[in-house]
Amino acid sequence: MSCVSERKFFECGVRNTFLFESKMINTVLDYVSGKTSYPHSYKIYIANPYARVMVVFSLGGLMGLQYVIAYILNPMLFFISSLYICIFYVCFFRSLQVSHMHYCIHRSFFENFKMNVVYASFISGFVICQNYNDYKREHFRHHSKKYFQTEKDADADLLINIMFIPGMDTSFYLKLLYTTIFSPLFHIRFVFIRFYGMIKNYNLYVAIGNFSIFSVYYFLIYSNFYGIAISVLFSQLVFYNISSLLQFLTEHAWFSRRKSLRDVQEYSYGCWARFCGARLEKTPVGWARWIFYMLCVAVPYRFGVVMGDLPVHDWHHLCRYMGGSEKKWMSSLYDREKAIEENDLLGLSSREVWGIKNALRMSFEGLSRRSLKN
Ligand SMILES: [Zn+2]
Ligand SMILES: [Zn+2]
Repeated sequence: MSCVSERKFFECGVRNTFLFESKMINTVLDYVSGKTSYPHSYKIYIANPYARVMVVFSLGGLMGLQYVIAYILNPMLFFISSLYICIFYVCFFRSLQVSHMHYCIHRSFFENFKMNVVYASFISGFVICQNYNDYKREHFRHHSKKYFQTEKDADADLLINIMFIPGMDTSFYLKLLYTTIFSPLFHIRFVFIRFYGMIKNYNLYVAIGNFSIFSVYYFLIYSNFYGIAISVLFSQLVFYNISSLLQFLTEHAWFSRRKSLRDVQEYSYGCWARFCGARLEKTPVGWARWIFYMLCVAVPYRFGVVMGDLPVHDWHHLCRYMGGSEKKWMSSLYDREKAIEENDLLGLSSREVWGIKNALRMSFEGLSRRSLKN
């Protein structure tokens, strides 16, 4: 029942191998890896929801500026940097859904209930994703003791829908992952589901969201920024789907139970942290390998798949049993570390997966050991 198969993928002490004298460097690495090192770094997060909205949308605009600068400097640089910058656009769209909208659903983004509903509806229209009511119903099912990790959990159901059925060989899942990512059918279907999910509960705020994103595209095309428009469009309608798939696959031990959770301990076995980085060996080759890994794997993983507080998704599920609060989600990365230092009641420090390769291997091995029948 518990996630025995996952244990061999958990690693301890990785963050300590790249802890530096400079607080500033540690702060950057805290953010990139998702594993904080405070007090060896600065604690930085935006608590005010209105400021958070302003910052995220301003960064979205500034990312467009990066393209313009790259294009002015060298058109070739523009094309080379396009793919990398796309990762940050995926981060922008996905953050709006997995952080902002998610915490609106939990009524933790704004103090005011109505504001949570209004803003979540706006995001549904802007990002083009599931409407507030459907998302709320499905997400609370995911949080329920009865359905968590079972095939009736909405997230697990999505995996079944795209053929990630438990009980197959790990090589089957790897092949399926590649074919799914490159399959136009998958993307068309996913985008259709997103549109349909948005339209099902269409209202004024969803319409404002639609109007805003279509205005952005209109502005880009009207200003002849075709390259940026294509990048943003690809990020929103194609890379977004890949990001969601990778996030769902590695989020929990899917299909690991058929019955209701018995206790918190059992709940905790299905939750883990997903950090971005690798052990640093302080040799010349080790340094070169580590820098390459951080730039080419860890950064895309962090910003393209596990953005916001997703690295510590275990904390989101378990914080209420460890003295934390969902309301303080914006400081989750730090609060989880604090709870570990204080007593680590639920053994969070022993369930940390580093890197996307390990997270996916763990997911595939877990899926292959389970079945829908027992
Ligand atoms: Zn939640
Ligand atoms: Zn979850």
